[in-house]
Amino acid sequence: MNKLKNKVAIVTGASKGIGASIAKYFAAEGAKVVVNYASSKEDAEKVVKAITNNGGTAISVKADVSKESEVARLFEETKTAFGTLDILVNNAGIYQYAPIEEFSADSFHQQFNINVLGSLLTIQASLKLFGDKGGNIINISSEAGKTPLATGSVYSATKAALDAITIALSKEFSGRNIRINSILPGIVETEGSHTAGFIGSEAETKFVANTPLGRTGQPEDIAKVAVFLASDDAGWITGEKISVSGGIYGV
Ligand code: NAP
Repeated sequence: MNKLKNKVAIVTGASKGIGASIAKYFAAEGAKVVVNYASSKEDAEKVVKAITNNGGTAISVKADVSKESEVARLFEETKTAFGTLDILVNNAGIYQYAPIEEFSADSFHQQFNINVLGSLLTIQASLKLFGDKGGNIINISSEAGKTPLATGSVYSATKAALDAITIALSKEFSGRNIRINSILPGIVETEGSHTAGFIGSEAETKFVANTPLGRTGQPEDIAKVAVFLASDDAGWITGEKISVSGGIYGV
């Protein structure tokens, strides 16, 4: 119940899906949580309400993580509300699958700006608030970065890049008491995966057939591992890519 007591956490993209679940699980473990969102104010407020109704502490902050000035404001509002930062979860992300014939520079920039640049901007901004005590960063990557799927070349490249950032920064943070790890989810049922048409599709059936644990993931499957990585239980883990995917193989 108290694994994250008195910790302050920012979860980006926490108005929906995996991010919303991480925000709720963190708060249930005692963290004060900043629920970031890009446009879905009502959904973000619902997450805050679920947390406060459960006796927890949370605020919502609108900020597009791909824009430097909005990231700066996200961290200023965190400082004003809670004075410090202990945990950053880079969860905000988008996925667009398309055959190479339909490749567009716009889609490339959109995915790289949110999934990669956004994570770098928030990590950079977190360092000041971590201060001398250090901190903890969790990047929500994807199995797709490790095992790319047809039509997912750009999305997979963003997640492979994010994993490279995790490893490079784990070394750069040597001696600074900052841990950084990637979680690689398999297919998870979220608002986003419904909208993308994965849930209920033939592709989902194929994924599940190749998943030893025999089902699509739920956001809480990821949130529980995020709690572990954010807590002292994972105090000797950094620079790792941790698959949370039911053991999916060969897709
Ligand atoms: P989702 O249901 O589509 O929710 C996405 C969240 O990200 C929303 O809260 C959205 O906010 C926020 N967001 C989008 N663009 C943003 C921006 N520029 N700045 C700030 N927030 C932004 O997504 P999900 O399926 O939970 O996926 C979450 C993460 O897990 C992503 O990084 C994704 O790549 C990764 N992942 C997902 C799966 C899966 O199967 N679902 C598998 C592997 C990895 P608004 O609602 O305000 O737009």
